[in-house]
Amino acid sequence: ASSQKYIVLDDDYTGYPLDMFCIPKHYEDSLEHVLIPAGLIDDRIERLARDIIQDFRNEALTGLCVLKGGYKFFTDLLDKIKALNRNSEESVPLAVDFIRVKSYTDTTSGELQVTGIDNLDHLKGKNVLIVEDIIDTGKTMKRLLDVLQKHNPKSIKVASLLTKRRPGIGVYKPDYMGFEVPNKFVVGYALDYNEYFRDLSHICVINQSGIEKYTS
Ligand code: 5GP
Repeated sequence: ASSQKYIVLDDDYTGYPLDMFCIPKHYEDSLEHVLIPAGLIDDRIERLARDIIQDFRNEALTGLCVLKGGYKFFTDLLDKIKALNRNSEESVPLAVDFIRVKSYTDTTSGELQVTGIDNLDHLKGKNVLIVEDIIDTGKTMKRLLDVLQKHNPKSIKVASLLTKRRPGIGVYKPDYMGFEVPNKFVVGYALDYNEYFRDLSHICVINQSGIEKYTS
């Protein structure tokens, strides 16, 4: 019942001016505005953790972190679940796992390479919660779900901190999501642009000079 609920940031929503928050000096000229401050991300994740615990009841869960962008959301979400486990009637035993996905957009088949730290076969019979930073068109997630299904988990759920609103196309919506954001390129909170901006705490919109500065 708690799934498919999320905070919607409208297209004309510009968040907050950069000088209202602390931004690393090296990024000041590269950002448009702060879209989601770190404190709000934190509060929203606390609620997602509660929804997850309530849905899973006392069933064990394997959190599957999609690297690299998902690492902040993954650790923060699991920390909140652990805190609830310590302090509530319901508690969900947790295991963790990590994968990296790479899509080859240059091929028409659009193949997805999934690399695990261990063999993915041990997901068999497990309740898997995929933890991803952002879902844009949803193509990556759909292909990842296909790959994981082949390893016969008991169930698969998806948590994504962000999804993008894309006019005209039906976008994949995960089971748990934090915010739906406008169709702009966002960075910070482990979301990168060419490996930059992972060291920025807030989720911000990159500007044109940022794109030029960090395009390899
Ligand atoms: P999809 O297959 O859903 O279109 O693309 C998802 C992937 O594209 C995400 O996992 C992420 O790596 C990347 N992506 C899409 N939009 C953004 C964005 O606004 N910022 C960042 N940093 N990555 C994005």
